[in-house]
Amino acid sequence: MSDYIFPPPPPASVAIDSDTRRFPVRRIFCIALNYAAHAREMGKEPDREAPFFFTKPADAVVDSGATIPYPSLTSDLHHEIELVAALGAGGSDIPADKALACVYAYAAGIDLTRRDMQSAARKLGRPWDFSKGFDNSAPIGVLRPAATIGHPDRGRISLTVNGVLRQEGDLSDLIWKTGEIIAALSRHVALAPGDLVFTGTPAGVGPLVAGDAAVGEIEGVGEVRLRVG
Ligand code: MN
Repeated sequence: MSDYIFPPPPPASVAIDSDTRRFPVRRIFCIALNYAAHAREMGKEPDREAPFFFTKPADAVVDSGATIPYPSLTSDLHHEIELVAALGAGGSDIPADKALACVYAYAAGIDLTRRDMQSAARKLGRPWDFSKGFDNSAPIGVLRPAATIGHPDRGRISLTVNGVLRQEGDLSDLIWKTGEIIAALSRHVALAPGDLVFTGTPAGVGPLVAGDAAVGEIEGVGEVRLRVG
């Protein structure tokens, strides 16, 4: 006799470099406007006011190399290449200088965005939920443990579409650093092992259309590949 009325779904998960096991995803947190040049392209002056967060469902993750269907209810699907931190530990009110110790691994990820839906929500003062959190909206590359690569705080972050450079920046340009992001998030919610943190995107966000192949790369971290069906 089962404890559940139907079998619970298997956990969403992400591949780990040199490990046959996978990283079980609990929640996905994302920070908005965390590179000055991207904030400006979105019509905002960059500042150090309290960071703004949004979420995606855990099962929005997609392995690198996947082909995803073009999402519904948009005609302006945008790519945002981002450094993703995967937490192996959590807590509340984590001090910024202790926060990186919570990170198990890093990967390159893409924060897919229904930009037209997001712009409409912003104009109306409505939440971003469905413009950011939808099926297949979080493609993510293979996780590389911090025990192997350390905690990257500089290095080129870029994305090409069909071989043409679209986004380029450097991790050292993050307005809020990875440890500061985790510390701030831990004041909103108790963080836990399995949480993924998208740390923001550099300038150059733009549309993906059917047939496009996107490749995101982060120096010292890895890559993420995506095809739109
Ligand atoms: Mn983003």
